[in-house]
Amino acid sequence: MKRCTKCSETKAPSEFHKRKNRKNGLSSWCKECDSIRCRVYRMANVDKVKARMAKYNAENPNYQTEWRTENPNYQARWQAKNPNYQANWRIVNADKLRARHARWRAENPEMMSAIRNRRRARKLGALGNTTAD
Ligand SMILES: [Zn+2]
Repeated sequence: MKRCTKCSETKAPSEFHKRKNRKNGLSSWCKECDSIRCRVYRMANVDKVKARMAKYNAENPNYQTEWRTENPNYQARWQAKNPNYQANWRIVNADKLRARHARWRAENPEMMSAIRNRRRARKLGALGNTTAD
């Protein structure tokens, strides 16, 4: 067991992130405190974090694809752990989604007419297939 220096709670070593440069190999803050600290930092330094990520991605263009290949089930596992995340995100970001859809429709007029045509054809087909039974 190990005590978190932030919240002073005693927790199992698995509740602490690994830190190679520490004597016991573990972070002094528990995962929960660490994730709050990271979230606060990211919120306070949005531009800095964005710039650093852009720089890293430019220097390591294959990192994300390689990581996904090495961790093929990560997304599925995360989604299983957070089943309502996507639905909640869509509710919280309804405006953002609407704007994104509007932009997509404006940028893809040929796709929109294809979708309209398919819908019309399906409707006509459904009517044509009606049988008297
Ligand atoms: Zn803690």
